[in-house]
Amino acid sequence: MDGENPQTTPMMAQYLALKAQYPDALLFYRMGDFYEMFFDDAKAASTALDIALTKRGKHLGQDISMCGVPHHAAEGYLLTLIRKGFRVAICEQMEDPADTKKRGYKSVVHRDVVRLVTPGTLTEDTLLNARQSNYLAAWAEVRGEAAFAWADVSTGEFTVTPCPRVQIGPMLARINPRELLVADTTTEEIVHETGISLTPLARSSFDSTSAGTRLAKIFGVKDLTGFGAFNRAEMAVMGAVVDYLDLTQRGKLPLLRPPILERQGGTLAIDSATRRNLELTRNLEGKRDGSLLAAIDRTVTGAGARLLESRLTSPATDVAVIQTRLDAIEYFASHPTLTQDIRQNLRHVPDIARALSRLALDRGGPRDVAVLRDGLTAAGQIAARFVGEVPKIVQESRDSLLGHTKLTTLLTAALAPDLPPLTRDGGFVATGYDLNLDEARQLRDDARSIVASLQAGYAQQSGIPTLKIRHNNVLGYFIETPDGHAAKMLAAPLNETFIHRQTTANSVRFTTLELSSLETRILNAAAQALEIEKAIFEQLRQAILDQSGPISNAAHGLAEIDLATALADLAIDLNWTRPMIEESRVFQIDGGRHPVVEHALRRNGTAFIANDCDLGQKPVWLLTGPNMAGKSTFLRQNALIALLAQTGSYVPAIRAQIGIVDQLFSRVGASDDLARGRSTFMVEMVETAAILNQAGSNALVILDEIGRGTATYDGLSIAWATLEHLHDVNKCRTLFATHYHELTGLSTRLNGLHNATMAVREWQNAVIFLHEVRNGAADRSYGVQVAKLAGLPSAVTDRAREILDALEKGEREGATKPATLLDDLPLFAARPIAAAPKTSAVEIRLNEIHPDELSPKDALALIYELRAFLRPQ
Ligand code: ATP
Repeated sequence: MDGENPQTTPMMAQYLALKAQYPDALLFYRMGDFYEMFFDDAKAASTALDIALTKRGKHLGQDISMCGVPHHAAEGYLLTLIRKGFRVAICEQMEDPADTKKRGYKSVVHRDVVRLVTPGTLTEDTLLNARQSNYLAAWAEVRGEAAFAWADVSTGEFTVTPCPRVQIGPMLARINPRELLVADTTTEEIVHETGISLTPLARSSFDSTSAGTRLAKIFGVKDLTGFGAFNRAEMAVMGAVVDYLDLTQRGKLPLLRPPILERQGGTLAIDSATRRNLELTRNLEGKRDGSLLAAIDRTVTGAGARLLESRLTSPATDVAVIQTRLDAIEYFASHPTLTQDIRQNLRHVPDIARALSRLALDRGGPRDVAVLRDGLTAAGQIAARFVGEVPKIVQESRDSLLGHTKLTTLLTAALAPDLPPLTRDGGFVATGYDLNLDEARQLRDDARSIVASLQAGYAQQSGIPTLKIRHNNVLGYFIETPDGHAAKMLAAPLNETFIHRQTTANSVRFTTLELSSLETRILNAAAQALEIEKAIFEQLRQAILDQSGPISNAAHGLAEIDLATALADLAIDLNWTRPMIEESRVFQIDGGRHPVVEHALRRNGTAFIANDCDLGQKPVWLLTGPNMAGKSTFLRQNALIALLAQTGSYVPAIRAQIGIVDQLFSRVGASDDLARGRSTFMVEMVETAAILNQAGSNALVILDEIGRGTATYDGLSIAWATLEHLHDVNKCRTLFATHYHELTGLSTRLNGLHNATMAVREWQNAVIFLHEVRNGAADRSYGVQVAKLAGLPSAVTDRAREILDALEKGEREGATKPATLLDDLPLFAARPIAAAPKTSAVEIRLNEIHPDELSPKDALALIYELRAFLRPQ
């Protein structure tokens, strides 16, 4: 605290004036070593952070609530607040309080907000997830055109794409921004997906004309045509991003890379329900574990992991783009030793892009400079590993890693071996780098040893061995003796040398002319050393920023190499193949596997049964089979294989030939969406409607038991009509799993429809799943058997079988009305109490065994005998 009383108006007036500028944020008001919060901010923060709420004086007759966090530990508290959805305005002291005092007793330390911390504008490693991008996005509609831009301030990535209003949902699901900027005039209308913080900005922030000028200035060009032909809406959203960065960073703009214009349709369109359903980056519970991303991520750097997530969430639709990515993987897959060596090198590569971004915002420290030194040095070593001709992506990446030697040599020479986190304390410049610095440090350190010898001399002169030279912030250096020696020190002859300064409870303090002149020298030398170090830091920072373009390219090159080597490693390890991608409607997968289910089964030591799928001749497959037989797995594995192929990855199959898919839809019947307050059947129908209305001829549609959430006949009719529509109108490649066996009859009428079924074997009234997809239709669902497997009481499954038999008999005889069954079947309660479960043959045999009487040979024979019970003959 700087001793001000908030009751006195000047400080409170300053606080309130600053707070008025940031009504939506918590104001971290710097007072000495603390950030203090007052009034409602204090109440909210003390609850959110679980810290004590205190009071400090009164304002307009009311107690002022207050809480505070120590400045050195502020990042941890900030993280909690940001995660809980707060925005925080950081207000610093802009001058030394000592200077304030000089201005007069009533003056207040000059303070100002230096940064507004929001979820979408973070740069600190502690506030970010190393393996995930942190996007700030903006959407706007300008005169009938609409666009969506997104930027990651922590890496400088900046992209813009056309985005009509109906595409906002899918776009948000794809990019998953931490914050979305919209014009305050449209806020109300925008569908607000949960978890995204919506930030309304004044319409003027979206002004396309001023945006053009502002952007051109930032990127140092006359106009933006060199980067692409942007329309007004695209200009407007990019302008809003830049405007908001200006606002939150208080004039310090992060290093943005020139914007990339992504054309509409440039990526595989996947809506949010499909993403969720296919568990691309999160499983159904929202966790990374169990997702496709988790199963395939073998990258070893944060930047590589971020690139993989971005590729997987935005697979390409351009054959050439996909082929170049596959070429890179093929190269690494056929050079396994090189691949492993490079992966080993990459493990030591720090996050260059994020360190660069902090340095650009003047928020970086000596350790960020070291990140560039180490990252770029490693980049050079990695580049040197490639010999001969390499595919395009590898070559471009390798080129980006070269040419940084001048900078790395400078940084290596300048940095000390052990680096402090902050610039302000000094001590990070290597000895020998700067002559003046070495001299100043020498002087400072020598003076310290002179203090030690002075102390020895004074102890001898005074005859007081306990005499010490100490230092504090108020007195500076002083000589201290226990108070028992006071009289001696204050009398002649000692009082000629020692000048009295202070008497405390148990000591007396003195100075000497020699000591104060020495102190001045120490202070000057230390301050001079620090000044020189700060100047050197600034030079290094500038040298780095001058190379920011090539450095960003190198960071990206390393990420590409990490991704390609990681995917190659995966492909070799799991025996994946290079997919054949073409402009057609072929879809032929031989021996396809589900990457995530296979991964999970492998851990249990179970083999995954591979299956073929060919949608070339007959583009619609109707898949029937019992529950648990593997229908959903088969459906999803084909969608995932297409998605992985277009991501530019090898795929889990023996052979895969895929004509570009431009839209991917996946729906599961009767999935719950209680959070959004819609009944399951309603959700199912809304989602089915979306597919039927949107799917074009190059779409791939996966429908899993559509129509299950309602009465049998309604459901059957809806499934029937949906299937016909997909076949006749959408004409897209479709996999349709159903329990309505009646639909299989349609194959005689729809010539693009193929019936496939999951093979099972029945044995002693139980089903054995073979997980094999075969031509043909299932005759029934085996629901009762599966229920039995699940442990439903046998009284219930026996009763169900009875009802089922009666229903089936009725159907055969043309009297299907369950109502008549009510009369015909004896009541459940009237049935004899279920007899004790029959003892199985295995149990009987087991009971007969007397282990002590078995020889090892008998035991072996017995094992064979018991095992035979499992196998139907
Ligand atoms: P339901 O109709 O009840 O949803 P389903 O027919 O869709 O069932 P899945 O959920 O796909 O069945 O699969 C059930 C389980 O069977 C999976 O969790 C997996 O353990 C196993 N399984 C599925 N396919 C295979 C396969 N090809 N090889 C080995 N095991 C498989």
